[in-house]
Amino acid sequence: MTGQEIMELSARYVMNTYGRIPLAPVKGAGARLWDADGKEYLDFVAGIAVCALGHAHPAVAQAVAEQARRLMHVSNLYYIEPQARLAQLLAENSCGDRVFFCNSGAEANEAAIKLARKYAKLHYGPEKYEIITALKSFHGRTLATVTATGQPKYQKGFEPLPPGFKYVPFNDLAALEAAAGPHTCAVLLEPVQGEGGVHPAQSDYLKGVQDLCRRRGLLLIFDEVQCGLGRTGRLFAYEYYGVEPDIFTLAKALGNGFPIGAMVAKEEVAAAFSPGDHASTFGGNPLACTAALATLEYMLENGVVENAARVGAYFKERLLELAGRFPFVREVRGLGLLLGMELAIEGAPIVTRCRERGLLLNCVDGRILRFLPPLIIGTEEVDQAAGILKEVFREALERR
Ligand SMILES: *Cc1c(COP(=O)(O)O)cnc(C)c1O
Repeated sequence: MTGQEIMELSARYVMNTYGRIPLAPVKGAGARLWDADGKEYLDFVAGIAVCALGHAHPAVAQAVAEQARRLMHVSNLYYIEPQARLAQLLAENSCGDRVFFCNSGAEANEAAIKLARKYAKLHYGPEKYEIITALKSFHGRTLATVTATGQPKYQKGFEPLPPGFKYVPFNDLAALEAAAGPHTCAVLLEPVQGEGGVHPAQSDYLKGVQDLCRRRGLLLIFDEVQCGLGRTGRLFAYEYYGVEPDIFTLAKALGNGFPIGAMVAKEEVAAAFSPGDHASTFGGNPLACTAALATLEYMLENGVVENAARVGAYFKERLLELAGRFPFVREVRGLGLLLGMELAIEGAPIVTRCRERGLLLNCVDGRILRFLPPLIIGTEEVDQAAGILKEVFREALERR
């Protein structure tokens, strides 16, 4: 099909929930994508931080193909080898001890919310259920996780929302301290807010949050769905901050594009769940776990995280150079290869012009360009992207 045909078919039959960009990618390799009409793109979105190893990664593709021929699905009625091995790999490489598998980031956060409430009920009684989250956060689109998300625009029209959530400004320890009350059972935060505009937590903030949680008997939950798995230049963002959550969630990059989510908890917290408390038909199935095992093993054995730190630092410098040249760049921020550039002008036209020149970018909150390239890119790809961005910025400056 041509790109035009794909778009028309989609517009006719697919539910209208996405404001889509007029592009239909059909093939990828590494940081490159090709659309239905054969045009090539440098992909600095990577499926929104999903394809950490790039598109069509041979190790992941081969593992998935072989597993699909052997066994795709059985059910959690039985023991599943790739699931057990993936849980071991995650536990051995993180501060967590036990893993619950699901199929998305929202489901991973949903599981974390349920575990936190169950833990609090068991240890402190029925009145501890409230979870404090941050304004500008993003935790998913199910009713509970969209309620946890501190952005009214995502909640509008879906009321009544489930009770038991409270919001505080991010990076404001005093506000959190004031908000925590007798009903509070947990604090849920993204160490780096992604969707909300690439806002990293301040180091002393997260340390302060950890101390507060310990003093008040609250669970600390980190949503690492976007910032986890190498994105910040550390395997997990909490490592960068030297803070250990009681529970953390993963999804996006875990299967390099195969849908899988995970909720990881420390032993003592995980113990609040017993058989029957939570479940998922597809969660942790052999195919998904094989994809994630191949992804995580490749990541750990091939210096992918170190590459993200190194190339991320280089990229940030290039973006700061642009910020120095173009007065409409307000700020460059982020960690590793989770970078944002706040503009004083609309971001959408910049994204469109970059795409026309063969560079895919994402824009959040109207004026913030978000850069999420695959973690395997080199400095050449960064130079190419920065070059395109510079041309587009120069045009934007001339038009003003
Ligand atoms: C993307 C995202 C989610 C939601 O993940 P889905 O797989 O879309 O449900 C949750 N939290 C964060 C931080 C995310 O970036």
